[in-house]
Amino acid sequence: EGEAQKLEKARVTLDDCLACSGCITSAESVLVRQQSHGELRSLLALNRAAAAHEQKLVVVSVSPQSRASLAARCKLGLLEAAQKLTTFLKSVHYVFDTTFSRNFSLLESQQEFVRRFHKQADDKKALPMLASACPGWICYAEKTHGSFIIPHISTTKSPQQVMGSLVKGYFAEQQHLPPDRIYHVTVMPCYDKKLEASRPDFFNQEYQTRDVDCVITTGEVLKLLEQEGVSLADVDPAPLDTLLGGAGTELSSHAGGGSGGYLEHVFRHAAQQLFGIHVGSIHYKPLKNKDFQEVTLERDGEVLLHFALAYGFRNIQNLVQKLKRGKCPYHYVEVMACPSGCLNGGGQIRLEGESSKEELQQVERLYESLRAEIPEENQAVGELYERWLGGWGSARALEVLHTRYHAVERANSALSIKW
Ligand code: SF4
Repeated sequence: EGEAQKLEKARVTLDDCLACSGCITSAESVLVRQQSHGELRSLLALNRAAAAHEQKLVVVSVSPQSRASLAARCKLGLLEAAQKLTTFLKSVHYVFDTTFSRNFSLLESQQEFVRRFHKQADDKKALPMLASACPGWICYAEKTHGSFIIPHISTTKSPQQVMGSLVKGYFAEQQHLPPDRIYHVTVMPCYDKKLEASRPDFFNQEYQTRDVDCVITTGEVLKLLEQEGVSLADVDPAPLDTLLGGAGTELSSHAGGGSGGYLEHVFRHAAQQLFGIHVGSIHYKPLKNKDFQEVTLERDGEVLLHFALAYGFRNIQNLVQKLKRGKCPYHYVEVMACPSGCLNGGGQIRLEGESSKEELQQVERLYESLRAEIPEENQAVGELYERWLGGWGSARALEVLHTRYHAVERANSALSIKW
């Protein structure tokens, strides 16, 4: 009925514990609290009251998973939802789509895999390469398996953090602003993205600013709408903003599922580059469950490429055990912490009156309704590689689009909140 309601305390027993080490530390919980829709509202109010030369340019980057969840909740098409959300968020200055930055993450993952494949004889940890876009998985890997697992993790930044570099790097230059005069907000399907944005690796010491200043979840956008008394369905649509300027008229996505399609893109690219094989449709073979599937490329009975996707901590733990026993047969694994992947992230909206399975299927249908683009064919991406990064595979591209991981000593990880 629109009234605040005190919720009951959640009960977590030892039976619920997956020993995933995903619990966050007290220091991390402070960083997470600094990022909320309340913080965003305060910033916007302060910004309006500030003198012109002190005002920040506010940029919001919306993830495609969040948009699908909001569209399903508000019973809208995806383009319609994106255009209406742009109007609603127009108290900020620009609203971008992280599908654009995901092109860079996919392209860099593809190239990184080929480099590692060539190195496998000299470097025993070059393969399997494990995907890096999920901070829930990264957090677990660093805290639980540290230096054993880290060399296997792709160094490619996630779409959120590539967007951070684009906004505070390229876009700031175009606007003739230092990075700290831009306040960059992302809308994401999970809370783990708040932790990712808070990593010291994504903090600019020179300007004392983060690449992503504030992450809010899809559910928090819904709260913002409710607090403003706005129904998204009633909002007029606005043209979409694009990083290179001009208005966007359509949305696109990537093939390979709601977590970004890393497996499919790396698989196709590797098949072509390493073996000269063009892959048509990809056949997934389910293993123990639908969240653990594998894909192979064979020629004359010989397995050339063996890839898998492992979603959810139970499957991740199985994968890590295989690796530890030296019995992991894969060249690449798309690892995601949430069962069913990012469309089912903990920050997504749960629809009312429908079972969670049906609601997830509805979000998946919407997400998959878009045209799938091929990153290599995106002209704006190609242009940015040339103009901003100095070309494909340049030293600057490696520096800007890749990151590092850090083993965490277990003794230092005093736990406070179950994530
Ligand atoms: Fe976030 Fe879950 Fe996606 Fe990982 S799988 S990035 S935790 S929504």
